[in-house]
Amino acid sequence: MSDAELVLRSTRVITPEGTRAASVAVTGGTITAVLPHDAEVPAGARLEDLGDDVLLPGLVDTHVHVNDPGRTEWEGFWTATRAAAAGGITTLIDMPLNSLPPTTTVDNLRIKQDVARDKAHIDVGFWGGALPGNVKDLRPLHDAGVFGFKAFLSPSGVDEFPHLTREALATSLAETAGFGGLLIVHAEDPHHLDAAPQHGGPRYTDFLASRPRDAEDTAIATLIAEAKRLDARVHVLHLSSSDALPLIAEARAEGVRITVETCPHYLTLTAEEVPDGASEFKCCPPIREAANQDLLWQALADGTIDCVVTDHSPSTADLKTGDFATAWGGISSLQLSLAAVWTEARERGYGLEDVVRWMSARTAALVGLDRKGAIEPGRDADFAVLAPEETFTVDPAELQHRNRVTAYAGRTLHGVVRSTWLRGERIVADGEFTAPKGRLLTRPH
Ligand SMILES: [Zn+2]
Repeated sequence: MSDAELVLRSTRVITPEGTRAASVAVTGGTITAVLPHDAEVPAGARLEDLGDDVLLPGLVDTHVHVNDPGRTEWEGFWTATRAAAAGGITTLIDMPLNSLPPTTTVDNLRIKQDVARDKAHIDVGFWGGALPGNVKDLRPLHDAGVFGFKAFLSPSGVDEFPHLTREALATSLAETAGFGGLLIVHAEDPHHLDAAPQHGGPRYTDFLASRPRDAEDTAIATLIAEAKRLDARVHVLHLSSSDALPLIAEARAEGVRITVETCPHYLTLTAEEVPDGASEFKCCPPIREAANQDLLWQALADGTIDCVVTDHSPSTADLKTGDFATAWGGISSLQLSLAAVWTEARERGYGLEDVVRWMSARTAALVGLDRKGAIEPGRDADFAVLAPEETFTVDPAELQHRNRVTAYAGRTLHGVVRSTWLRGERIVADGEFTAPKGRLLTRPH
C-alpha cells in the first residue's frame, strides 16, 4: 500500500470472505488493498485506528422517497441524505413519486437531478416511473441513466402517478425487456383490495383486513406470468405477504428473472403490537402478524428474499391522522434501518455479515453498482463504522429526516453508527456533518 493516502484499521472488517482483522488502504476515494491488521502504514498516509468497532461497506438503499421538488415539506434531499448518512447509508436510489414532477420523462429527471446536486450528502441515483401512456419515455430514461422503472398495479396514493392495468403492465414490460431494463413493482391487486372490507377508522385490525395477503399474492402471480411470457426482468418491491414466497421460489426455479425486497418494518414490527390510531405504523402493503414475519426471516436466510431496503416514505405529521384509511401510508426509517434490522437479526441468530449482504451487497447488485456494496480493492471507499454491541433508545428529536415521525420511537436498538465515510472522506461522525459530498449516479452501462 505504498501509495495509500488513508488506512482504516479494525479488528472487525466485514469483507466478502467474512469478518477479519484488517487494514483497508484507500487512495483517491477507492479501496486499493485489504491488508493484514498489523500491516505497516506508509509514510504520508493517515491511519484511522477504529479499534474493535466494525468496519462495514456503506449501505445501499434502493428504495427511498425523497419527494423533492414538489413535496419538500414532506422530505428533501438535504434532510433525507443527512438521515441516511447518520444511519450508515452511503448510496440511495430515489423513487419516481411523490415528488412533483414525478420522474417519468427525461426532462423531469433533469429537474430532479438539478435539485439534488448540491444537497446530496451521499450518492444519489434515480428510478424512473412507468405509467399508462409513457412507454415512449422509458427508453430515453434508460439511456439517461435511471436504474429501472417503478410501476404500481393498484392506486399509488397520488393522482399524478396512476397504476398499470394488466394490459399496460404487459406493454411496459415488453418495452423494458426490449432494452434489458428492470421493472420494479408495487404488487397489490386492485380487485382484491376493492373486494376487501373497508371499514376505515383507527383500528389496526380493520386496516390489516383492508389490505389482505391475497392482494399481494395475486399481483405477484400476475407479474410472474407476464415476466415469464415476455422474458422480462422484474423486482417485487416491499414484500409483506409470506404466502407469496412459494410462488416466488417456484418462479425462480423455473428461470423467471425475479428479485424481491422486504423492509425493516416487516422484519421488526408486528401487527399485534401496533396501537390503534398509531398511523406512524401505516404502510402499504401493511405490517402483518408475527407468524408472517418469521417466514420473511426464513426467506431472507434461504435467499428467496434478496434484500432489505427502507421504503422511507415520509409525509408531514398532520397527514398521519388517527384514521388508518385516510392517513398517509409510509414509514420513515432511513436513519434507523441498520440498527433496527441488526437488532432483530442478532436476536434470531444472524450475523452482521448477513445484514451487510441484505442491505449493501445485494442492493448494489440489484442496480448494477459494482463500485458499491463490498470492502474489496476497486470499490469506492464507502464505509459505516458500527459499534454493534452498543444500544440506544430512539428519540425522534435526534432524527435528521424532515418530519420526525417514526414507528420506532422509544425502542431500544443495538448498533450505534459512529461514523460514515464516502469515497474515503468521513461525512458524519457523532452527529456532525461535513458539507455535502455526494454525487449523482447513473446506471452503469
Ligand atoms: Zn415506496
